[in-house]
Amino acid sequence: MEIDSLQKLYVEELKDLYSAEKQIIQALPRMAKKVANPQLRQAFEEHLEVTKKQVERLDQIFERLERSPRGKKCKGMEGLLEEGKEMMQEDMDPEVLDAALISAAQKVEHYEIAGYGTVRAYAQLLGEEVDARLLQQTLDEEGETDKKLTQLAESSINVEAAVEV
Ligand code: FE
Ligand code: FE
Repeated sequence: MEIDSLQKLYVEELKDLYSAEKQIIQALPRMAKKVANPQLRQAFEEHLEVTKKQVERLDQIFERLERSPRGKKCKGMEGLLEEGKEMMQEDMDPEVLDAALISAAQKVEHYEIAGYGTVRAYAQLLGEEVDARLLQQTLDEEGETDKKLTQLAESSINVEAAVEV
């Protein structure tokens, strides 16, 4: 298909995000299992539930657009999650691994923030007000998650990882 309009690019970008979210839903439980810090584990578990709602929002948007969400694999997210997986296979102290998992998770959130910021802007320009609102909600959630991870890292997890045992 030739992508000759912002409308088509919008749908392609939404498909990319849909694939990204689906991959995150697969990865988060694996990551949560590796976490030592209970607050961080809880943050991952909560974000899994939030992520499922985000997929539902995308489903709503695709329904409104009368398009299928399928047919695209988000290679960016695949790469980020692959890096996270590599990290989990390293021989690391549990406290250091927690810091590494936050690092991996924040890269994921930043990718999503970039993606959702873009499609939200497209939706506004294309006059898709309902979509724009739904996408803004998800964008806000990703931002909150990113902030929460920063706070956990700076208040305890990085500090604990810095202690030599
Ligand atoms: Fe998400
Ligand atoms: Fe997220």
